[in-house]
Amino acid sequence: MAEIIIKQVAKSFGTFQALHSIDMTIRDREFMVLLGASGCGKTTLLRIIAGLETPSQGEVWIGGRRVDHLPPRERGIAMVFQNYAVFPHLTVFENIAFGLRMKKLPQQEIDKRVNRTAELMHIEQLLKRYSGQLSGGQRQRVAVARALAMEPDVILMDEPLSNLDALLRLEMRAELKGVLAESKSTAIYVTHDQVEAMSLADRISVMNGGKIVQNASPVEIYRDPAARFVGSFIGNPPMNFIKANRQDIGRWRVAGLDLYGPSHGASSLEFAIRPEDLTIGEGGFIATARVVEPLGAHTLVTCEVDGKPFRAVLDSDLKVAPGDVLTLIPKPDRIRWFDPETLLAV
Ligand code: ATP
Repeated sequence: MAEIIIKQVAKSFGTFQALHSIDMTIRDREFMVLLGASGCGKTTLLRIIAGLETPSQGEVWIGGRRVDHLPPRERGIAMVFQNYAVFPHLTVFENIAFGLRMKKLPQQEIDKRVNRTAELMHIEQLLKRYSGQLSGGQRQRVAVARALAMEPDVILMDEPLSNLDALLRLEMRAELKGVLAESKSTAIYVTHDQVEAMSLADRISVMNGGKIVQNASPVEIYRDPAARFVGSFIGNPPMNFIKANRQDIGRWRVAGLDLYGPSHGASSLEFAIRPEDLTIGEGGFIATARVVEPLGAHTLVTCEVDGKPFRAVLDSDLKVAPGDVLTLIPKPDRIRWFDPETLLAV
């Protein structure tokens, strides 16, 4: 069992607080993704779990053992980083075997593990090559194979695919997901790429300003953002927001429409809808198309509603041109509301 528990972990660098009292539990064999913009503290949190950074406060537990005072090698973890850290002067075999030799495993066991993980990562034909002669994608596979060969309780990955080109990233993403699902490791994966996060994670922790804003399944993060920040960060393009004025209990006026919404005491809320949850029809928001971007199956139309930008992702069969006036109906079950004071969902 390698459940990871993070209790009130905080980290300051001088007067700068990079992490504010983080609480998080990662279940045994779960794939957890830490997602957030550059500088939000995700690498710092990962490094604290790894033991490469000391928390200013709080505790880290792995598999029922408190580990925050232990050196990295005693934590049962393996790591994969963005810059691979594959040794160019060693063969692929020796790179994968490296940690196993350090652990003084018998040669037979080393052979078995190296061959098996090389096969998993589809690099068995490269085992005799020097790593300095490999492409970026191949080196990345070696780095992952080396981590997996350790059969760690926990595997930590920091943007491991970010140096790869788009197609290779896609391929490696699917492979990583398959390989980790079969392994016994609990995984924590840091990225700022929301598509990667959605596709890989069992759960995503969205971070902002050194805090976890929401920790939930990818679908929940997308459908039910707990905070305005999550709605504005997740989704491409992100959610649309419009100010809603209270008309009556549970009735809100939103850009000329009367909508049913929460029975909330505030005089105004923020109405939110995803661009892909709008359809064209009678009685919707009056929207003037400004920019029309064909994306293949869909067309992204940036409109103006109530004088503000408002995006709709429409079927590309609908012919829309700049200057057209559209009426956009929000799908009722996809409408979300946020409190403008707390910035949380209501
Ligand atoms: P990125 O995606 O750019 O790597 P991140 O979310 O992983 O960003 P961190 O690397 O965790 O962010 O950094 C969080 C904050 O802490 C940043 O503002 C960073 O400048 C600061 N920071 C990180 N390490 C140190 C350090 N050793 N000394 C001072 N400040 C640091």
